[in-house]
Amino acid sequence: MTMSLPQGVNALVNVIDRPIAAYFNSCVHCGFCAEACLFYTETGDPRYTPIHKVEPLRKVWKQNFTFWGRLLRALGLSKPLTLEELKEWQPLVYDACTMCGRCSTVCPLGNDITYMIRKLREGMVAAGAAPEDLEGAAFRTLTVGSPMQVTLETIKATIRHTEKETGIKVPLDQEGAEVMMLLSSNEVGLYPEIMPALARVFDKAKVSWTLCSTAYEATNAGIQIGSSDVARTLVQRIVDGAERLRVKIVISPECGHAYTALRWDGPNLIGRPYGFKVLHITEFLDQLRAEGRLTTSGKESKRITYHDPCQIARRGGVVEPPRNLIKMVADNFVEMDETGTANWCCGGGGGVSSIERAIPLRRRVFSKKKSQLDAINVKKVVTTCANCRHMIEDGVEYNKMDVEVVSLTEMLAEHVQT
Ligand code: SF4
Ligand code: SF4
Repeated sequence: MTMSLPQGVNALVNVIDRPIAAYFNSCVHCGFCAEACLFYTETGDPRYTPIHKVEPLRKVWKQNFTFWGRLLRALGLSKPLTLEELKEWQPLVYDACTMCGRCSTVCPLGNDITYMIRKLREGMVAAGAAPEDLEGAAFRTLTVGSPMQVTLETIKATIRHTEKETGIKVPLDQEGAEVMMLLSSNEVGLYPEIMPALARVFDKAKVSWTLCSTAYEATNAGIQIGSSDVARTLVQRIVDGAERLRVKIVISPECGHAYTALRWDGPNLIGRPYGFKVLHITEFLDQLRAEGRLTTSGKESKRITYHDPCQIARRGGVVEPPRNLIKMVADNFVEMDETGTANWCCGGGGGVSSIERAIPLRRRVFSKKKSQLDAINVKKVVTTCANCRHMIEDGVEYNKMDVEVVSLTEMLAEHVQT
């Protein structure tokens, strides 16, 4: 599988479907979506109004799918979109959108603006107008197996370290195991302590689990860049691995978009239902808790809050499981002002964290998370997405805040009863 060759701006015509046409037709330009987007609220810049970000798509829709648009174009009174114009839009479509889905929840007309941005990205990939940083990540995932060049050898080395540190065997390619665990390259590369944490928790709960040598990476760079072809190939890789090992459950790790890509987009991408269940790690751990297989001891001493990753809470529907788990080990848990499905993004989802030139903007819009954290005066933030963790750690460091950022799985592993 390779990425398709650029087709020019005409590629945008092909991504316009009935929902997109209906959304453009119904938009009343009320601006409500602006107030839902942290890129607008934190900068006040009207270019960051969500519906404005899809302006090239509107132009193509108008010129190709409306009577007046076609007439004006035929008379030479409206100029077609050029590839240069489309590329100029790249910082709005990619750097200034985390695909957090918040705008779609507030539009009074029900316009799914996040879907429109996703479709515009699809057109931009086909037109050859996507950011080089994301193209590189997609290419590495297809060729090496991971966007951060985490190879099978890296995984095997991490397994060796984990077994040495914990004394627990980490199964690889264990046919007939109940559960296949995926990892995200962010976790392996930045937070190698995740594998020992998983090993400890699964061992105590007596989970029959395995890693897979042909499908260890959960990250789906295809979803981030907006290429269904790449996304499909990466989902298929996991499906093939799970079917080869005959597992019953595939667990998506602490990574936001990996979960929505595999659980919600995956079956549509490959055109059939899976023969196994997909759960986010917090859903699985919460099941173990409910079955009495996960017991903990001791409590966290610090005041703690939870950051909902957009793809897991708003887009994925997983809100209660992480809270059930945190409450097992924390008496002093407080919520931020807008949480769950109404949460605010860390600022680095949707591929933004992989775009180097977006760093200043990302840090600027972190002011939303900073003000949320300052308001409740917490010293510890728990989250369930390694990308959110990384982005919040960066924001905390940049703003010299006295806040620790931790993974929920790792925090639980510290409290698992021995
Ligand atoms: S909230 Fe909906 S109707 Fe209002 S400007 Fe945004 S997309 Fe248009
Ligand atoms: S999906 Fe999120 S970041 Fe993107 S435009 Fe909508 S509110 Fe803004």
